Amino acid sequence: MAFDNNIELYGMVLSSKPVGEFDLRVTLLTKEKGKISAFARGARRPKSSMMAGSRPFSYGKYTIFMGKNSNVISAIEIENYFENISKDISATYYGFYFLELADYYSKENIEAKEMLQLLYQSLRALMNQKIPNRLVRCIYELKILVSNGEYPEVFSCINCGKEKELSSISITKGGTLCPECEGKFHDTIKIDVSTVYTMQYVISSDIKKLYTFLVSENVLCEFEKILRQYYSMYIDKSFKSLEIITTLEYNTKD
Ligand SMILES: [Zn+2]
Repeated sequence: MAFDNNIELYGMVLSSKPVGEFDLRVTLLTKEKGKISAFARGARRPKSSMMAGSRPFSYGKYTIFMGKNSNVISAIEIENYFENISKDISATYYGFYFLELADYYSKENIEAKEMLQLLYQSLRALMNQKIPNRLVRCIYELKILVSNGEYPEVFSCINCGKEKELSSISITKGGTLCPECEGKFHDTIKIDVSTVYTMQYVISSDIKKLYTFLVSENVLCEFEKILRQYYSMYIDKSFKSLEIITTLEYNTKD
């Protein structure tokens, strides 16, 4: 009986860890099979053809031998290394945070076309100097919640259903409130109508059109505040790369 256990998957390297003397254990986010781990044999040998394509951010076609106990990468055809990200320290840490978050949300054996596309477009946005990385982070954080299916309701008042004049948001209740209802909740954050529109746009827009707008500093601060509180309430994981971003982005400005 002849059979071939090699499969071709499109994906991006989320992380790679040294194993043994010369190997790497690579975790990929793939379009077809979601998260998958595979060994890159000999990838740490000098001049290994596997080395470059095993680095985080590498994107392309991976041929993987699906073994009984472990998977082994048999060929790599890279389309984009995102090498420019590593030239900018701030973009690098945002990029690593995006990979960590994708790793947190992705699952094995569930296709991840949308999440992969989101990750790809968000890394491209980090390399676009016209869009602040803080905004790219907010958009990515909100859209990854959307692709996971649980995100704040910002199209109507979560108490009465009214769709106009949404003036605040409750993180514990997970959505926006109108002026009549906001007094009934204790943890509300006042938000500008532009912040509501921004969040509505991110939630409903096509991934390809996500990074096509800028916001005022005020809207960006509100957007950040909402997501920081939402993440600290609903996500029980601390991300290593985030600590560095906080140091780079915020502490230096005081
Ligand atoms: Zn209401």
